[in-house]
Amino acid sequence: MYDRILIRFGDLTLKGKNQSDFIKLLYKMLEEKLSGLPVELEKKHDHAYVILNGYDYNKVIERLDLVAGIYSYSLVKKIARDLDILKIEALNYINELIKEPTTFKVETKRADKTFPLTSMEVSKLVSAHLLKNNQNLKVDVHHPKLELKIEVRSDGIYLFNGQIRGLGGYPTGIAGKGLLMLSGGIDSPVAGFLAMKQGIKIECIHFESTPLTSIESAQKVIDLVKVMAKYAPNNKILLHMVPFKDLHMALLDKIPESYNITVMRRMMYRIATLVAQKHKDLVLINGESVGQVASQTLQSMATINEVTNMPVIRPLATYDKVDIIALSRKIKAFDISIKPFEDCCTVYVPKAPATAPRAYKARHFEEAIPYVDLVNEAVENTKSIWISKELDLDLSMYGLEVGEALAEYNKTK
Ligand code: ATP
Ligand code: MG
Repeated sequence: MYDRILIRFGDLTLKGKNQSDFIKLLYKMLEEKLSGLPVELEKKHDHAYVILNGYDYNKVIERLDLVAGIYSYSLVKKIARDLDILKIEALNYINELIKEPTTFKVETKRADKTFPLTSMEVSKLVSAHLLKNNQNLKVDVHHPKLELKIEVRSDGIYLFNGQIRGLGGYPTGIAGKGLLMLSGGIDSPVAGFLAMKQGIKIECIHFESTPLTSIESAQKVIDLVKVMAKYAPNNKILLHMVPFKDLHMALLDKIPESYNITVMRRMMYRIATLVAQKHKDLVLINGESVGQVASQTLQSMATINEVTNMPVIRPLATYDKVDIIALSRKIKAFDISIKPFEDCCTVYVPKAPATAPRAYKARHFEEAIPYVDLVNEAVENTKSIWISKELDLDLSMYGLEVGEALAEYNKTK
């Protein structure tokens, strides 16, 4: 019964050029995510329609849910600007929707003021017709279970009911580019999704310690980037794989156990900062959440954050784990995130990590390792690879160590 989907845009409190940039990029993303479907996009100034051409609207909605910047959408039937047709079509619409007694209300908006009846008159006319012809209906103007909306426009009359919330936020890319520190866990992919939803185009950085850790743990990261790539411009994201093994071993060897994690994370921040500068990423993004684990107390964050002067965005800082998990499921990352492969943060986890590590102590302990050289080496040997949403890459087919495996894989292309 629906022939189109009405799309309402997000934050239109934006003004002037910001608003036109928002809409331009939103249309670009919509076109991209809808491509391949037999539908058409009809662009208006502050809203849009997807013309279904008979195609399943559920499949279109799946695509719309990949586009940040959509405030909401509604399933719509467009009809001719004729009162008799309106009465017939409104009744068909309701008959198909309603199978049991319910309360309703008709609400009309008249975008085209040349229409002979006022909004109120249209609503009255249609509700009287519906009441007379469908015994299941009762009017309730305050808390109706169903609200039939009628929009009279110059090119036709639009019928719909209900609004489905879209992703909200801003079209991905409008805010600039950031570097997401991506582990194989639950939190960081969700942080990446939230950053993209807020308009940030992301690149990802992963610190891998193969063969100290398994190649499968690096594969998880690739699979998680594929999941996030669905939301990204052109359906792909650049992943920087940093060989972290040498630093990791030096750490395990030279740093007191309780400061292991603190120093390890300081090294990660140092490397991420250099990689971000090289690739012109303006901010770092990560999955830290206040209080979750020892390394995420405020004191710990301060001690770790000391090594960078880049802004660090922590979308999950104040989120509860249950809410993070719900988002992880929603973006379909959860089943990958919970696969049981250890990564560099789970190998040799100290029994009693410092919960209030101090910066001066971290600085002191770090002197035991030649970290400036090790950090630079790690940056130099970083392998960057574009991950598209349909990339077919199984690292374990090519080796046990990520650098080698990627080199072998590249030979096959
Ligand atoms: P996650 O679920 O994202 O792994 P977590 O709760 O396990 O997070 P930590 O292991 O302390 O927390 O890591 C905090 C954040 O540091 C992660 O969310 C991620 O952004 C970053 N991080 C941790 N390990 C790595 C890694 N190997 N490579 C890149 N980033 C990492
Ligand atoms: Mg983790």
